[in-house]
Amino acid sequence: MTTSMEKIVIIGGGAGGLELATQLGHKLGRSKKAEIILVDRNHSHLWKPLLHEVATGSMDEGIDALSYLAHARNHGFQFQLGSLTQINRENKTLHLAEIRDSNGELLVPEREMAYDRLVVALGSTSNDFGTPGVKDHCIFLDNPHQARRFHNEMLNLFLRFSASEGSLEKVNIAIVGGGATGVELSAELYNAVKQLHSYGYKGLDSSSLNVTLVEAGERILPALPPRISAAAHQELTKLGVRVLTQTMVTSATEEGLNTKGGEFINADLMVWAAGIKAPDFMKEIGGLETNRINQLVVKDTLQTTLDDDIYAIGDCASCALPSGGFVPPRAQSAHQMASRALENILAQRKGKPLKAYVYKDHGSLVSLSRFTTVGSLMGNLMRGSMMVEGRIARFVYISLYRMHQIALHGYFKTGLMMLVGSLNRVLRPRLKLH
Ligand SMILES: Cc1cc2nc3c(=O)[nH]c(=O)nc-3n(C[C@H](O)[C@H](O)[C@H](O)COP(=O)(O)OP(=O)(O)OC[C@H]3O[C@@H](n4cnc5c(N)ncnc54)[C@H](O)[C@@H]3O)c2cc1C
Repeated sequence: MTTSMEKIVIIGGGAGGLELATQLGHKLGRSKKAEIILVDRNHSHLWKPLLHEVATGSMDEGIDALSYLAHARNHGFQFQLGSLTQINRENKTLHLAEIRDSNGELLVPEREMAYDRLVVALGSTSNDFGTPGVKDHCIFLDNPHQARRFHNEMLNLFLRFSASEGSLEKVNIAIVGGGATGVELSAELYNAVKQLHSYGYKGLDSSSLNVTLVEAGERILPALPPRISAAAHQELTKLGVRVLTQTMVTSATEEGLNTKGGEFINADLMVWAAGIKAPDFMKEIGGLETNRINQLVVKDTLQTTLDDDIYAIGDCASCALPSGGFVPPRAQSAHQMASRALENILAQRKGKPLKAYVYKDHGSLVSLSRFTTVGSLMGNLMRGSMMVEGRIARFVYISLYRMHQIALHGYFKTGLMMLVGSLNRVLRPRLKLH
């Protein structure tokens, strides 16, 4: 009698899901102890914290994106293109939406996929808190497609400005949300303008750029210590960014943003980066417990509260911290959760006890493009938070991405990738120009 192999399905190949699929492939897939299947709605993976660089063109997505099919073949798991819409816990099946091409032609009909163990790792989307006009007029930087849209619209605006030969006063860009995304994007825009000027965009320099960063709270980067917020605020102001704090956006129109204080912020291009939520279809998906922003509520083992065979990791999971509050939606959390979920899945298969996930805050850093990097790191020796700035901070910031690459490719291949990156800096333009 043949028994079928256990099927472990991971939905979402992002910062957490792809690391987990890779490690499960190594531990179980290659030796045929279990079938590991990764499902993602895109063909390729791009580490999400790089999206603001794709948006401004400092990074060419075509070079850094990783093909799921190729990676799966090399690491002992399978990849299926698909978009989760529903979970049926009784039959242990997933419902995946139909796939159509850009002309609307049906490529793959909707389908069911069986699982024995499931890991939901499908990330988050921007939360517009129902603010009128935001969906229609602002760009959300949630995925590479939206980052590319921003890039095209930005280049068009700069082209129009440059061709106007002085008849247009400024290029107005407004960014809502003073978290890492908004702060990093504001600084990247000044880098993009500097580069475009050097490539011949006549009349375009930092004085032609009018970037307004709008934050509802008292200070930008509220998750970081006040000293770092103040340093970043100062750096941005020095670059030319108009930073507005304690300013609530009440609606967006085609021409700009209205604020609660009655100001109208004129903008040719608007980005909304003020808070996250799990996608709306996740609300009570499969009868599981979800919170008010649609995240799946998990136990400290990362299993969902109502089903031990379903795990959730990363931005779509709501995991309570013993000290109160919740694990923050960050790449470092997704990375750590992927490691704990791996250990717990292996233990669960062997009937061994599962371990609790403990969030380790290694600090947070924000890159102000080529200008500087600021942030706080948890000093292990000092047992506290220390402020870092400049080159050391830049090094640590980049190493967060390197850790992700090492988890996916190992040390040798990551070293080769760094070498290719250095060569590309010599061989290719410093900005994606098309
Ligand atoms: C511009 C920007 C800058 C950031 N900077 C930092 C930073 O400096 N440091 C930091 O720690 N964090 C940063 N973050 C946050 C960080 O990117 C996220 O916390 C992290 O990526 C979450 O990982 P995840 O695995 O949960 O989800 P993601 O990495 O978002 O991956 C989710 C995956 O699920 C797929 N998916 C979504 N829906 C479906 C579906 N229905 N079916 C199938 N697949 C689906 C997506 O295609 C994607 O591949 C930044 C975020 C942004 C947007």
